[in-house]
Amino acid sequence: MARLAAVLAFVLAGPGLAPAQTDPQDGVTLLLSQFDALVETGNQAGLPALLSADFPSADVEALAADLFAPDTRRAVVTERDRAPLNGALPGDGYRVIAELFTEATQRARIVTLALDLRRPNGGALDSWRIIAAVVTGSIEGLYRLRLNASTQSTVRNLTISAEDLSITLVEGSVFQIESDAGITGLILFGRGLMRFSPGPDTERGQLRIFSGAETLDAPFTSAFVRLNPLEYEERVSTASLTPAPVNPRELRRAHELLARSGPQFYSLDLRELSSEIWYFLPPSGDFVAEVQTRRHGVLTYSRSGRLTEDITFYDSNRSRTITAYPSAARRGPHDLFVGDDDIRDYDVIDYDIEASIAPERGFLEGQVRMRLRVRGEGVSAITLRLADDLAVRSVASPEYGRLLHVRIHEQNNIVVNFPLMLPGDTEVNLVVAYAGSVSGQDIEDEGLQVDDPAREDPFAIPLEPNLLLSSRSFWYPQNPFPDYATGTLRIVVPEGYGCVASGQPRSGDEVSIRDLLRLADGRSFVFTAGDPLRYFAVVVSRFVRVAETTVAVGGAEGDRAAAGVRVAIDTNPRQQSRGRNMLPDVKSILRFYGGIMGDAPYESMTVALVEHELPGGHSPGYLAVLNNPVSAPRLSWRNDPAAFSAFPEFFIAHELAHQWWGHAVGWRTYHDQWLSEGFAQYFAALYAQNTRGERTFINMLRQFRRWAIAESPQGPVALGSRLGHIRGEPRVFRALVYNKGAAVLHMLRRLIGEEAFFGGLRRFYTEQKYRSASTEDLRAVFEQESGRPLDRFFERWIYSTGVPRLRYSSAVTPDAVTVRFEQMGEPFDVPVTVSVVYSDGRVQDTVVAVTDPRVEWKMRPVGTVKQVQINRDYAAVAIFERF
Ligand SMILES: [Zn+2]
Repeated sequence: MARLAAVLAFVLAGPGLAPAQTDPQDGVTLLLSQFDALVETGNQAGLPALLSADFPSADVEALAADLFAPDTRRAVVTERDRAPLNGALPGDGYRVIAELFTEATQRARIVTLALDLRRPNGGALDSWRIIAAVVTGSIEGLYRLRLNASTQSTVRNLTISAEDLSITLVEGSVFQIESDAGITGLILFGRGLMRFSPGPDTERGQLRIFSGAETLDAPFTSAFVRLNPLEYEERVSTASLTPAPVNPRELRRAHELLARSGPQFYSLDLRELSSEIWYFLPPSGDFVAEVQTRRHGVLTYSRSGRLTEDITFYDSNRSRTITAYPSAARRGPHDLFVGDDDIRDYDVIDYDIEASIAPERGFLEGQVRMRLRVRGEGVSAITLRLADDLAVRSVASPEYGRLLHVRIHEQNNIVVNFPLMLPGDTEVNLVVAYAGSVSGQDIEDEGLQVDDPAREDPFAIPLEPNLLLSSRSFWYPQNPFPDYATGTLRIVVPEGYGCVASGQPRSGDEVSIRDLLRLADGRSFVFTAGDPLRYFAVVVSRFVRVAETTVAVGGAEGDRAAAGVRVAIDTNPRQQSRGRNMLPDVKSILRFYGGIMGDAPYESMTVALVEHELPGGHSPGYLAVLNNPVSAPRLSWRNDPAAFSAFPEFFIAHELAHQWWGHAVGWRTYHDQWLSEGFAQYFAALYAQNTRGERTFINMLRQFRRWAIAESPQGPVALGSRLGHIRGEPRVFRALVYNKGAAVLHMLRRLIGEEAFFGGLRRFYTEQKYRSASTEDLRAVFEQESGRPLDRFFERWIYSTGVPRLRYSSAVTPDAVTVRFEQMGEPFDVPVTVSVVYSDGRVQDTVVAVTDPRVEWKMRPVGTVKQVQINRDYAAVAIFERF
């Protein structure tokens, strides 16, 4: 917590606000420009002329010492805020907040100044003077990077090392990247070899998927490296450098590489203050190497202490993460991050989101108030996540006025600086005004995949377009770490459009949309989320309300679940009858889940039925968006882990389950994502069993098992969204996180019994409601409910790759049926159904817990045994072989 705040304060923050109005007839502006000119020219002697006569002389010296430097080449003063000065007559005094950006030959800094300015009553334009000046903050450590053309070296066997990585330049030449604080990088050309060998087993498996081997040995031709100057000697074998005459052609290539690769790392986007790129130094321990390999294109190794998984290895050409894991010192059980697990700087408590959305132009203009509470020891800067395409007009706080903020290059982040350290538990409001282009997010990870690319069909009916802004759009400023907040959304859309969003819809005429939203002539919609949400979503399209009702979903007498959840169905115009026909399913599904859980997490539920080529869905809190294919499907999606042809309500059943799993109970990191998807998948299967019967359920189990076995070599369930990522194969993700996750829950239920399982589910839900849970939280609950250790169960099924291989034999005598199981590899805990089939047609099923390397099971038959079947219900995700 403190660690992150320190890093952010280092990376830190400055401008980004639109410049205040500069009116040439304005005396304050004139004074600031005179001040600017003095700083830029280093004319310290001119300063007293801008100060009032009673400005204390000691303060003049201190101010001058802080702001003036002999090597200043450029200065930019930007007014950020102006407020009437206490004690001055209206119009004769202001407290001005200004930023002063000063640039020397190799460094730059940004200083925030609070300036009290006055003029004599009704004085002339040039009669303004500074009566007090305080530096309230500064950002130091901005550097220009340069290649030292005179320090080209030839090398033999130069090595550069970082954890799990070595870069060897066998022969070639090297340029040093210098900053005012020392050597902060290298550019390598020649014949080299990069060796990367990740520590954790799972990550070695991912590297094997990428490269075919668990250690990557990649020949390379060039590399770009950034490091902390103090670590240069330690990381680089400098003895292998021999100074050499500069080769102009190589120098030119080195300049090109610095210009291309440099800005991607440790650089700030200072927008109106400087058109140049300014860099900061990699913090101690941080390191990045971007390597042009012969076989794999550009591969980037990065060590970044600000991430919990601080070592990443990235395929830059295809924009894919190959590995991401905590460095050895940070690794704990299951190779997951240990340490201060909760790295959030703050919680958002409540949002007030006003957005006007023009779906045809893909444009959004927004103003968001967020109420935050600082966590831990305190912060002086915080990071907000917001899409890079959305330009921030201002960040202000009723408590602290206009705030400095800056964007780090291409990270969908804004760093906001406070003028002082805010101690833990401080509540603060931020108001962020922003605008820019938005594009809707696909619901690909919840949709189906086709085997063939889409063929153009000249007779296809054009789909009704929709714009979905949700968890991956970063369409409003938010906490980069998931938390839960309540909120109100006011959305304006053009005439003819409607929208559905997170929260209970209120009629639009209750509020007047602020006139600062330019698109004020549209229709406004208001949604209130009184129950905390993980994120807010909105879908804009042409909608018709086709159904509205209230569903009692179980729960104790008098509580909200019993009182009922308000359900609405909105559809595209062509989907009205489908929407109406869906109402009974929606009601029955909500009642069924509410019955299992004894609670409804959100007070209302809107189903938005939109058109899409393929079925699929997305379900933020309070809302489910369902894709509905319009015409007869011309694409085949049968070969997908989530295509259940005998269960047409599958999508709606899965999406509605997300209100409980994924939303009310969130997941902490991507490693825990199966708590959302596996649970939603399992609940959909339970609903199928309840409404369509055992056969449909068993067919689903069969499909879960088939996909889980087929894709298990691709990684453990705990790899979450990274499953299938390297090969761009989302089916792998669905096969394991959805289907294997669901099958694992079913096996757990069979192992610990109905009471412990459903009791555990309810307890887990109650404990984790409106929180982000981890697999370890789940394990703890089921261990308590069942009274048995489950560490091996979760270790094998969730954190490890692979599935069990079981050999079995059966023997039948008139007195006994005997089945022997033998586990071929590391033992799993596998409940297996043994079915004794009698000649009169009766079938006797028994669940045998195979939890040891060898298990023998016996029973006395109650008739003539015709056959013994193993795993007839497909509930065991195991490969069976008969002895
Ligand atoms: Zn889902």
